[in-house]
Amino acid sequence: MDRLIEGHLYQNTLTQLTEAASLMKLDPNILERLKKPKRAILVSVPTRMDDGTVKVFDGYRVQHSSTLGPCKGGIRYHEGVNLSEVSALAMLMTFKCALAGLPLGGAKGGVRVNATKLSRSEKQRLTRRYTSEISSFIGPDRDIPAPDIGTDAQTMAWIMDTYSQEQGYAVPSVVTGKPIEIGGSLGRNTSTGRGVLYSVEEACNHLKIKQDFNIKVAIQGFGEVGASAATCAQELGLCITAVSDVGSGLYNEKGLNIPAVKEYYQKNRTLKGYKEADSITNDELLTSKCDVLVPAAIDGVVHENNAKNVKAKIIAEGANGPVTLEGHHILVDKGVFVVPDILANAGGVIVSYFEWVQDLQNFFWSEKEINSRLRDIMSTTFRVSLEHSNRHKIDMRKSAMITAVSRVSSAMLLRGLYPQ
Ligand code: GLU
Repeated sequence: MDRLIEGHLYQNTLTQLTEAASLMKLDPNILERLKKPKRAILVSVPTRMDDGTVKVFDGYRVQHSSTLGPCKGGIRYHEGVNLSEVSALAMLMTFKCALAGLPLGGAKGGVRVNATKLSRSEKQRLTRRYTSEISSFIGPDRDIPAPDIGTDAQTMAWIMDTYSQEQGYAVPSVVTGKPIEIGGSLGRNTSTGRGVLYSVEEACNHLKIKQDFNIKVAIQGFGEVGASAATCAQELGLCITAVSDVGSGLYNEKGLNIPAVKEYYQKNRTLKGYKEADSITNDELLTSKCDVLVPAAIDGVVHENNAKNVKAKIIAEGANGPVTLEGHHILVDKGVFVVPDILANAGGVIVSYFEWVQDLQNFFWSEKEINSRLRDIMSTTFRVSLEHSNRHKIDMRKSAMITAVSRVSSAMLLRGLYPQ
């Protein structure tokens, strides 16, 4: 398996795990197991295109650990998806769930496809075939997928329907991030962005930074995470100076009007051409003048070559792995406070957990209750990691990882190794 899963993000994740293991003197037998996924499923996804031809895409579902509960994690449709990336992201999910104290393990799935090039019906056929290929490995007690890059509530509805048709009855709890009408949770679609901002609030409190319109926030990515982080930042009274999508960015030193930017983006599917701002590139956004930087697009965007030019005092990782380890060391040496991905972007899986619980009970909560429970978990998780970081004089990435790994490790030792 080693050769199949080696790759940049996997190596990064493994380095974080082994560094945490040596600092906390982790049982080497536990470390050996955590370095690899429990199970990696590789499937072909033959899909009929609108022109009648059949294209075969590579699909994956990797389950890293089910020690704390059913595996949990998103499904990504992207051209860059491969077994190594999905395995790294599955491992991060194990630690993200453990850090937030959720009774869930870690998984991730994906299909190697450019989803923006698919028509709606092609995407539906691909999703249903992919679901049917992995259906014996998922389920409310086994593994519960959710949205990630390139997938959304509609994609989850197709997965839920395909799985339910195979079972013969409706099984809403097989996926989270569904539309509300079929058992989705209020607040799920904004939960990751909201959680990122709750972690920024905690970081500001810790650094004694007053949160008002003088605080400038730059957000990379205007998908579900970036756009909802922007809305939440505005609700909290902060000034959003920059946002970007895949191909273009906007900058306004005096602050962007987020509802107007969102409306423009919804209408045009691009930020390009929006009048009330200067245009900047994605790279320029990362090093633009700001106090808080939220990279909420893809991995590896802050690295050894641009980290030294980052001006933010706080970075909250909205995406998974947006800062490379080399970049991270440069930032920490510069005194930048980095809230790591497994903490900063945990809001998504936290509300996914709420959705799963609501589906299992057939009893639904109000949005107010969901957001307040989310805020509680985010702030407890932040404080536990911060306390650990202060006590052991380590950065937040290490302290979050150690907290997560020690929870998984205790559970593994209690459950024991079986069958032998
Ligand atoms: N894809 C999201 C993540 O990376 C959400 C996962 C989930 O809700 O299960 O955290």
